[in-house]
Amino acid sequence: MAHRILLLEDEQAIADTLLYTLTSEGFEVQHVRRVCDALTAFAAQPPDLAILDVGVPDGNGFDVCRVIRKTSELPIVFLTARNEEIDRILGLELGADDYVSKPFSPREVCARVRAILRRSAARPAAPATEAAPLQLDETAQRIRCAGQLLALTRYEYLLLATLLKRPQRIFSRAELMDLVWGDAPDTADRTVDAHVKLLRAKLREAGVSAELIQTHRNMGYSLSLSA
Ligand code: CA
Repeated sequence: MAHRILLLEDEQAIADTLLYTLTSEGFEVQHVRRVCDALTAFAAQPPDLAILDVGVPDGNGFDVCRVIRKTSELPIVFLTARNEEIDRILGLELGADDYVSKPFSPREVCARVRAILRRSAARPAAPATEAAPLQLDETAQRIRCAGQLLALTRYEYLLLATLLKRPQRIFSRAELMDLVWGDAPDTADRTVDAHVKLLRAKLREAGVSAELIQTHRNMGYSLSLSA
């Protein structure tokens, strides 16, 4: 099946060459020109890879990347026109997989895209989500427990999905605030604790040990595989 690529690029000439090259190499490309359209397209059907221009009229590719990274590990390549932008891509730990500076050859972009997709295919297929008693469905933004859908609020879902995608990894409260409540900057520290408490109660109700979410004193929370 053809890999689906989401392309955010506001300059028509650049978009055209990329569209032409990627399509002729067998990729299925959805082209958008604005941040809002990129987010809509991502929400409707997450692609296999995203190519994001940094500077677009209604915002920048970084914002799109941040939103995508809240729920998805899909490979992201930035298109950048300036050195300062490269510094930001490398410095912000946005979780980008690669970047290409303009002007670039579309063949080069194609080669990078292929290499990244090969790499991500070689990654073990989500050992995390399968090992846990929970199944994460990122497309539908749902989590199932033994086939049963968990009734979660938006933030409960984002919190559990974040932990689920990186089991054993300890997330500090500050990290979780950033990853889960990034769009609600006034959130207090105790919000994380309160949501963990709610999640544990729901997990217990669904028959999962509440120990699945572990508390690490003075460090934060992690998802255990052995619970
Ligand atoms: Ca641009």
